[in-house]
Amino acid sequence: MQLFEVGGAVRDALLGRAVHDRDWVAVGATPKQLIEAGYLPVGRDFPVFLHPETREEVALARTERKTAPGYHGFAFHAAPDVSLEQDLARRDLTINAIARTSDGTLIDPHGGRRDLEARLLRHVSPAFAEDPVRILRVARFAARFTDFEVAPETIALMRGMVAAGEADALVPERVWQELSRGLMEARPSRLFDVLRDCDALKRLLPEVERLWGVPQRADYHPEIDTGVHLMMVLDMSAQLQAPLTVRYACLGHDLGKGTTPAEVLPRHTGHEGRSVMLLRAVSERLRVPTDCRELAEVVAREHGNIHRSSEFGATALVRLLDRCDAWRKPARFGEVLLACECDARGRLGLQDTPYASAPRLRAALAAGQSIDTAAVAAGAAERGARGPDVGRAIQSARGVAVAQALGLVSSAAEDG
Ligand code: ATP
Ligand code: MG
Repeated sequence: MQLFEVGGAVRDALLGRAVHDRDWVAVGATPKQLIEAGYLPVGRDFPVFLHPETREEVALARTERKTAPGYHGFAFHAAPDVSLEQDLARRDLTINAIARTSDGTLIDPHGGRRDLEARLLRHVSPAFAEDPVRILRVARFAARFTDFEVAPETIALMRGMVAAGEADALVPERVWQELSRGLMEARPSRLFDVLRDCDALKRLLPEVERLWGVPQRADYHPEIDTGVHLMMVLDMSAQLQAPLTVRYACLGHDLGKGTTPAEVLPRHTGHEGRSVMLLRAVSERLRVPTDCRELAEVVAREHGNIHRSSEFGATALVRLLDRCDAWRKPARFGEVLLACECDARGRLGLQDTPYASAPRLRAALAAGQSIDTAAVAAGAAERGARGPDVGRAIQSARGVAVAQALGLVSSAAEDG
């Protein structure tokens, strides 16, 4: 049996990037031999094992053959007679199809080093077309390796795959897995550039695709185009190192602008409610995790109010914080504000403009939190208040505290 290091670790080492996990391929071995040598079988779909000490993944060299559309339509052949070269030929990109022996010799039958130098994401062989997940992987690698381009022949191949209906065969879990990873890369907009370029975006996320060509008011949005704005917002979320929840919220916040009636453009009054509805459909379809879903919905619904909150009095601020469930979930509210900051700064010429709503709302939250709710409730009860009236007394006390902290008219006066 011979072991070779393969895949991302070899690629990243050649690029001078940090290597996180190493993958190995075993040639000339049977599962039985590996198990006897102490390897732990883990592969559900493939013959994959964990090294007894390092816990790194070792896969038996294999070939693949397409049997049906989609990701699961594969037959595998893993046997001691499968060569390293055969295993490398089934890989997606040339830069991912380089192997290294223990003495450092590179085995690179598909020109992976040449493409690393040329900064090209290029498919290994026409067999690339057999697995639509590869379309998403290429898009994700484009978002990570920001100075790489997709080779024109690879884009052409991916277009053909999409035209043949392959993108429709993707299971939601794999779409979310690759999309969420791509959102976490250095330049998420490049993932969407690639998916648009090969026509996959309109199959996978028509709600997002539709935003290009939709104008916005130039006074708020010097970049005008809603799709361009969305890409700037996503790249801002990466620049601000936002977590996935925030990046997904950024992706969904303006979906409603895609269904604004033509006669009211470039205004988008009420787009927030439409964003929420479209976002729910996307989250449902892709089985998006709950924390991402929930944050995105709050941001879609409230981002306009949060941008405008400098005009709000204390009562309106308390109501806004209520609707965001900020008293119970202050950390999540921090994420709401970060998504809104990405939205505000994801505009042409405004990238470096500080986002004033965030510190102001943080101060309002802190002030409202500082009141002793138990004491206020007890006081209200003593005065004969019941049920909802107790809640109103707490809100009113919060309003007074917010007004004081922000130097606003007292909420009592505002209510009166
Ligand atoms: P990352 O840095 O994101 O881990 P990676 O290239 O190591 O990138 P993995 O998903 O860890 O990606 O896969 C390891 C290797 O397996 C890849 O480099 C590639 O050679 C191969 N591979 C993974 N998924 C596919 C696929 N869908 N089609 C073809 N080859 C694949
Ligand atoms: Mg890897």
